[in-house]
Amino acid sequence: MSATAEKMRHGGFDVDLIRADFPVLHQEVNGRPLVYLDSGATAQKPEAVISAMADFYRHDYANVHRAIHALAERATRAFDGARARVGEFINATDTREIVFVRGATEAINLVASAFAVPRLRPGDEILVTELEHHANIVPWQLACERTGAKLVVAPMDDAGDVDLDRFEARLGPRTRLAAISHVSNALGTVNPVKAMCGLARDKGVPVLLDGAQAMPHMAVDVQDLGCDFYAFSGHKLYGPTGIGALWGRAELLEAMPPYHGGGDMIRRVTFDETTYADIPYKFEAGTPHIAGAVGLAAAMDYLDAIGMDAVWDHGVALLDYATARLEEVPGLTILGSPAHKAALISFTMDCAHASDIGTILDQKGIAIRVGHHCAMPLLDHFGLGATARASFGVYNTMEEVDALTAALYKVRDLLAG
Ligand code: PMP
Repeated sequence: MSATAEKMRHGGFDVDLIRADFPVLHQEVNGRPLVYLDSGATAQKPEAVISAMADFYRHDYANVHRAIHALAERATRAFDGARARVGEFINATDTREIVFVRGATEAINLVASAFAVPRLRPGDEILVTELEHHANIVPWQLACERTGAKLVVAPMDDAGDVDLDRFEARLGPRTRLAAISHVSNALGTVNPVKAMCGLARDKGVPVLLDGAQAMPHMAVDVQDLGCDFYAFSGHKLYGPTGIGALWGRAELLEAMPPYHGGGDMIRRVTFDETTYADIPYKFEAGTPHIAGAVGLAAAMDYLDAIGMDAVWDHGVALLDYATARLEEVPGLTILGSPAHKAALISFTMDCAHASDIGTILDQKGIAIRVGHHCAMPLLDHFGLGATARASFGVYNTMEEVDALTAALYKVRDLLAG
């Protein structure tokens, strides 16, 4: 356990202690202290993650599964341990249900290719919501193109909520899968996914949840949610890039064909025939991102030591404060007001284009995201091409919200008529 976690266990959530764990935060950008409000795009890394990966490379690094020398055994133990850690973090019943992938995008593509495509017939349907990231739209469109199936969309209202009745109404006799974001990256909406999974289960429809934006903010329990697949990325969870996981029910994964072919995913290969390894290895062709898995496990240790409930509470406090402060700024409009919301705010200003807002804030050392957030259909709903988005992490402070607010007043001073 890190020194920070040890201290916090006794003294409660302390954002200053957390900040001390993130080396990158302690710098000036354009002559101002960095205010990093882009954790929704990717989160910064605590020393615990950086050093877990560096230590692994320094002392234990080798390829996994293939050799019997000491380093290979240590590396294999670390890699297998990381898989077990991921399973524990999301309360999977069986470590074999954790497939390491590059991130949420690959996880969703894996399910689209290996689960959906073999089952889809012309006229079948995949149900998504209007809130999805492109990563949870395009793989299904590709699957539909290959099979003659079609994409059906459960609409969102102007608050950014998906109405459950309208969602249920679209679960038809031809629906073969529902693919839903747990948390929207563009609005922060926390979808009522447990209820949605229940509705889908009643109609025999399996559900994939895109957890890319949920995992950094809240405790996720895949058994409690009642989903069939859960996809997420390590880099948004304070872990490394290039690693993430797909959780899937063992019986579904077992019934699926491999996604990629190559080394490590086979039982026996001849030129006539190949038989495949058991799950999860069947889906992990080639040398995996071993150090990435080690780093991801370290990130989960770090977050668990803080406590995911404390992480959620800190996000809510930041969100409430930031919402109140931003609402003060004349001409600023916050997009959506969903019933449940994670710690991010999408907004527009009547005096400035989103990219101008982002540029002026950057000059003040404040990092936000501007653009369509890979959620063009959601922005189309609001008749917008771009918004500015401030997204918060465990290390953000109320003072940083004040700095953001002050900078937005400055945008107004500079650009309003
Ligand atoms: N889904 C959502 C909701 C996201 O926010 C993102 C990343 N912006 C993704 C999927 C894709 O994640 P990655 O790029 O890490 O694969």
